[in-house]
Amino acid sequence: MKYFNLNDKNELVSFEQAVTQGLGKNKGLFFPLSIPYFNNINYEQDFQSLALEVLQPYIGEAIHTKQLKNIIQQTCAFDFPLITLEKNKFIVELFHGPTLAFKDVGAQFMALCLDHFSEKQIKKTRVLVATSGDTGSAVASGFYGVENVEVIILFPKDKVSEIQELQLTTFGGNISAYAVEGSFDDCQNLVKEAFNDSAIFTKYNNTSANSINVARWLPQTLYYLKTIQTLVLKGFDKISFSVPSGNFGNICAGMLLQKMGFPIRKFVAATNVNDTIPRYFQNKIIEIKPTISTLSNAMDVSLPSNFIRIQQLYGNDFDTLQKTLNAISFNDEETKKAILHLYKTYNYITCPHSAIGYLGMQSLNPNANEACVCLSTAHPVKFADSVEQIIETKIPEPSTISMLRPKNKIVTVITKNYNEFQQMLLQ
Ligand SMILES: *Cc1c(COP(=O)(O)O)cnc(C)c1O
Repeated sequence: MKYFNLNDKNELVSFEQAVTQGLGKNKGLFFPLSIPYFNNINYEQDFQSLALEVLQPYIGEAIHTKQLKNIIQQTCAFDFPLITLEKNKFIVELFHGPTLAFKDVGAQFMALCLDHFSEKQIKKTRVLVATSGDTGSAVASGFYGVENVEVIILFPKDKVSEIQELQLTTFGGNISAYAVEGSFDDCQNLVKEAFNDSAIFTKYNNTSANSINVARWLPQTLYYLKTIQTLVLKGFDKISFSVPSGNFGNICAGMLLQKMGFPIRKFVAATNVNDTIPRYFQNKIIEIKPTISTLSNAMDVSLPSNFIRIQQLYGNDFDTLQKTLNAISFNDEETKKAILHLYKTYNYITCPHSAIGYLGMQSLNPNANEACVCLSTAHPVKFADSVEQIIETKIPEPSTISMLRPKNKIVTVITKNYNEFQQMLLQ
């Protein structure tokens, strides 16, 4: 499979180039040149084989089938349990991976791909990642112990949750954590400056691991696939998904599966008050406003970078897209009420992001034999500060977190001045 640059259709690259490069010219995202269509899907086969069938065309020759099978197996080493709320309403939990958020799937897959490709490379690979909390630990976990790869994480000092900080700073080994005296945007600026600085490329091949990388985007199809398989085997013939959305990478992976012929009727993109896309569906204009801090901070995004891929999937046609996708925004008050409602009604504890996904699902009117599913993107304990206050109950701590408490936090505090960061990179 070849990939083209959405900002420069003449730039065509292989899967390997798309992964190692991250972005194309003019900061363009890569997009598959063609999308395979599946006429007859055999849901009776085991999930791993189905997953291989779906991902194989996107990887092509870049990774041998046997190796790809291994990568998929390691990526899906944890379960995606489906929780029944009503006879046709479900929550799928995507947070049973090592860092308790769905980003583990994409990060794991990308790490395994880069590991595979780095064997051929002479220079060491260095992954630079700016994070507001969840991405950094998922990427670190994926790359921990991977030979010839070093990971540098930048996070805004004192602006991530206690558990997120614990996760970011206790890896050690080939993972280095930097706390930046500034905001998430300052972290992102440091990474961007580094990519413009040829001096840091002499010893290392530097790449970024944020959600625009195709190796993080494509494997996210897998948990939609697993959910569809489970529900089809239960007798449902159509499925609609509500996805709590920030950068729209997650939902865009589900939409790719629909294009490939899987029985999905509708998508709801549920956002917090950072509502650029819900407003777009009202007035057809993408108007960016300053980012607002909310309870669902992993979705505090005002320019969703993957939306351009969604537009491409639907031929850049507003009306076609509108038939499939609804976008709705919810504020913190509504989010708190939903967390409390889920707890009181179903004795179910949910994180603020997932609660927004649940609210989005309530807007769907399923047909007979249709199932509605909302994606639960993080374990509530990652946001214990706010959730415990809302439900007035302590959330039991999973062992993956309590295990980290006795470990040493290793972190270097830096200013948002690029010269200081550059010195670290040149050492
Ligand atoms: C990253 C994240 C999201 C948003 O996903 P996108 O792919 O950026 O739309 C939602 N919930 C949680 C918990 C996240 O970490």
